[in-house]
Amino acid sequence: MSKYWTDVVHNLTPYVPGEQPKEHLLIKLNTNENPYGPSQKVIESIAAANNDQLRLYPDPESDALKSTLASYYKISKNSIFIGNGSDEVLAFIFQAFFKKDLPILFPDITYSFYPVYSRLYGIEYKTIPLDDEFNIRSDDYIAQNGGIIFPNPNAPTGIPKNLKDIETILKLNQESVVVIDEAYVDFGTESSVNLINQYDNLIVTQSFSKSRSLAGMRIGFAIASEELIEALTRIKNSFNSYPIDRLAQIAGVAAIEDITYFNETCRSIIKARTFLEKELSEIGFDTLPSGANFIFTKHRVFDAITIFSKLRSQGVLVRHFKNPERISQYLRITIGSMQQMRKLVFLLKEIVGYI
Ligand SMILES: *Cc1c(COP(=O)(O)O)cnc(C)c1O
Repeated sequence: MSKYWTDVVHNLTPYVPGEQPKEHLLIKLNTNENPYGPSQKVIESIAAANNDQLRLYPDPESDALKSTLASYYKISKNSIFIGNGSDEVLAFIFQAFFKKDLPILFPDITYSFYPVYSRLYGIEYKTIPLDDEFNIRSDDYIAQNGGIIFPNPNAPTGIPKNLKDIETILKLNQESVVVIDEAYVDFGTESSVNLINQYDNLIVTQSFSKSRSLAGMRIGFAIASEELIEALTRIKNSFNSYPIDRLAQIAGVAAIEDITYFNETCRSIIKARTFLEKELSEIGFDTLPSGANFIFTKHRVFDAITIFSKLRSQGVLVRHFKNPERISQYLRITIGSMQQMRKLVFLLKEIVGYI
């Protein structure tokens, strides 16, 4: 608190990211990073760009990265916006489309940055409860609103939504912008990207932090009609013309081009997820169906905080959310390598008394 602060600063409730421990941990499964490093081609491209050119500003429009994404998704370059992580893209979306007279809608259990951005920009919001199985019900998104946002698959539940349901929401809400946050879409969830040609109120956001193993580089993007993309570009150029540095732009291109590595690593993670789900079900855990690189799971007997603390003392970090009450017995566990998953299962068996 300070007399020099504005009311805006006094009233902020900042987002609290998962812990990035300083000490060495055996296994870090708390912030949904990729267990595999970036493609070797990404490492090489960064090394090659580590030179005198760094004295020059980067391309303000990340044109090469846009072209690469445009041909990958078979869409126009003008339908792509690139930001410093998808969190920045989301922040621009809130400013560009959500500051209206009506409240925006998002699920009661979802990515906790949405209420943070809403308060930062003075946007009213209304949360819509997930149903009894933790699903987002399309029919619940019919109230008058200033915009809609949710992740697909949802976080922290991991539950994917099919395109038919997404289309229902888009059709019911033609007066407002609907944002589908696809941070985890590459782990077995169907993308809404192709729907942008049919729905001019749709924005899809994606990230290089999870499926492309580049959380440390901060690259995210949005795909939408040219009209919506232009709004984001106007915001960016009123804030910071160069949000993506030279090395990140180069790394992003190489990451998209190495399709083989991307497919292999995504496949390995999906395989490890299937393994973990099966093993956990045999030792008393109930796990929600996941289309992401994490699972949301609850033991039928043991308390979530007890399991969390015992894993922590063994050097394994997972994520626990105290609020809301409804999810306080769940743990969110990032899918790691098979070796990490075997170790995790071994420790969990000890904790819940199966060995
Ligand atoms: C990780 C995550 C993001 C942000 O990703 P960055 O590109 O690293 O900023 C956005 N939305 C959801 C739901 C996420 O989990």
